[in-house]
Amino acid sequence: TGVDANELISGVINTFTLKVEKYNGKIEANLKAEDPNIFVDEMHITNVIFNLMDNAVKYKKAEEDLLLTVTTWNEPGKLCISIADNGIGIKKENLKKVFDKFYRVHTGNLHDVKGFGLGLAYVKKIIQDHKGTIRIESELGVGSKFIIVLPLLNN
Ligand code: ATP
Ligand code: MG
Repeated sequence: TGVDANELISGVINTFTLKVEKYNGKIEANLKAEDPNIFVDEMHITNVIFNLMDNAVKYKKAEEDLLLTVTTWNEPGKLCISIADNGIGIKKENLKKVFDKFYRVHTGNLHDVKGFGLGLAYVKKIIQDHKGTIRIESELGVGSKFIIVLPLLNN
C-alpha cells in the first residue's frame, strides 16, 4: 500500500500553521498531483517535509513576512514536491555544501539561529534511500526552492 503525498504534506502544513502565523507568515498549498501515491516510509518522509519547512521558518528574512509555497505535481512515473520560501537565500558557492553533515552557512549575524547542520543531510539521505532526487534553486536575498522527485507507487 502507498502513502498519499498530498495528505502527508497537508498534515505537516497543519502542524506548521500556528508557528508560521506567529511570524505573520503564510503557507500556500498547491497540492495538485493527481496521482499522489508513493511507496515510502511515512514517518521519514514526514520528517523530510518538516525539516524543509522548519528551515524556511528559521532562515526567513527579518524584514519581510514569510511566504512558504508548497506544490505537488506529477511527471511521468514521478511525484514532484517543491517547497519554496522568500527567505534569506543561499549563495551559489554554498549551494552544494548545504547537504553536507554539520555544514551551516557562515553569515555573521545575518541568521543567529541554532542548528546542527544535520537537517538537509538527513533529507538527502532519506530521499536517495527512496530512489528519489532533491535539488535546490536559490538566490541570495530572494529565497530558496527545494524540489523533490520520487517514483510513484504504480510506475
Ligand atoms: P538542523 O537542521 O540540524 O537543526 P540547520 O538548519 O543549520 O540545522 P540544515 O537544515 O542542514 O541545518 O541546513 C544547512 C544550512 O543551509 C543552514 O544552516 C542554512 O545556512 C542553510 N539553509 C537551509 N535551508 C535554508 C533556507 N530555506 N533558506 C536559507 N538558507 C537555508
Ligand atoms: Mg535545518
